[in-house]
Amino acid sequence: MSTRFAVLLGLLVVVVISAPAADPELEIRVIYDNTSAREDVQPDWGFSSVVTFRGRRALFDSGTKPDLFLANLEKMGVEPSSIETAMISHEHPDHRNGVNKLYPLYPKMSVYFLDAFYEKAFEEAAAAGMKVSREVRPYELIPGAYSTGMIPGDPPEQSLAIETSKGVVLIVGCSHPGIVTIVEQVKRQRGVDSIRLLLGGLHMFQQNERQIRTQIGRLRELNVKRIMSAHCSGDLAKQLFSEVYGDNFEPLGAGKVLRLD
Ligand SMILES: [Zn+2]
Ligand SMILES: [Zn+2]
Repeated sequence: MSTRFAVLLGLLVVVVISAPAADPELEIRVIYDNTSAREDVQPDWGFSSVVTFRGRRALFDSGTKPDLFLANLEKMGVEPSSIETAMISHEHPDHRNGVNKLYPLYPKMSVYFLDAFYEKAFEEAAAAGMKVSREVRPYELIPGAYSTGMIPGDPPEQSLAIETSKGVVLIVGCSHPGIVTIVEQVKRQRGVDSIRLLLGGLHMFQQNERQIRTQIGRLRELNVKRIMSAHCSGDLAKQLFSEVYGDNFEPLGAGKVLRLD
C-alpha cells in the first residue's frame, strides 16, 4: 500500500467514524432517579425524564429538589427552551416539584396536570406563574405520544404511551394505581396486544416476593416485552424481574440515555 493511499484511507475512516449518527425515532434521557447511571449526575428520591419523539420534546415528571433537577437537566444537555410541553404523572412532590422552577425559565411551555391533583399542587403552580391544563381524559402530549388521562389510584395518576413504529413505549411515574392496571388501560386505549417497552417507577419497594411475582407474571401475560425499572421499583423487584425477564430487563438510573429506532 502506498503511503498516500494509506493516508487517504485513514482520512476516510476518520470521516466515517465522526459522521453524526441520525437522530433516533425516540430518545429518553433519565434526568432524576433514586440511583445514578453517570458519575456527575446526582441521584435522589424521585423521577424525571425527557422524551424526544420524532423531533418533538416533552418532559415527563420533574423530580423532588428543583435545583438538583435543573443541574441534572443541564448536565444531560437539555435546554429549558427545547421542552415544549411538560406532563406531571401525579401530585406527589417527588415528581412535581422541579417544574415549578423550570417553568419560569421558559414560560411558553405547556404544563399538564390531572384535575384530580390536590389543591396545593395548583397553588404552587400558580405561584410559579404557570397556567396548567387540568386533564381527566386521554390526550395527545406531542404528536404520537398520548397521556392515559386519569387512572384512579391513591393518588390518581397519568402515564405516557408513545406509539413508535415498533410498538408502544410506556413511561410511568410511580404506578400508584398498580402497574398491571396501567398496562391494561394502555393496551385498551391504544388498541395494541403488546407493549414494546415499559419504563419508570413500578412502586414495588414495599411489596413482598409473592406480590411482586404475581405482577411480573401478569405483565408477561399482558405481553410486556421489555422492562426498565426506575425510582420506587425496589431492589427485590429488580432481582425478580432480572430473573424472569433476563436480558429484556434493565434497571435505570439518572444520566442514562436510551435511543430507540
Ligand atoms: Zn407518588
Ligand atoms: Zn414517586
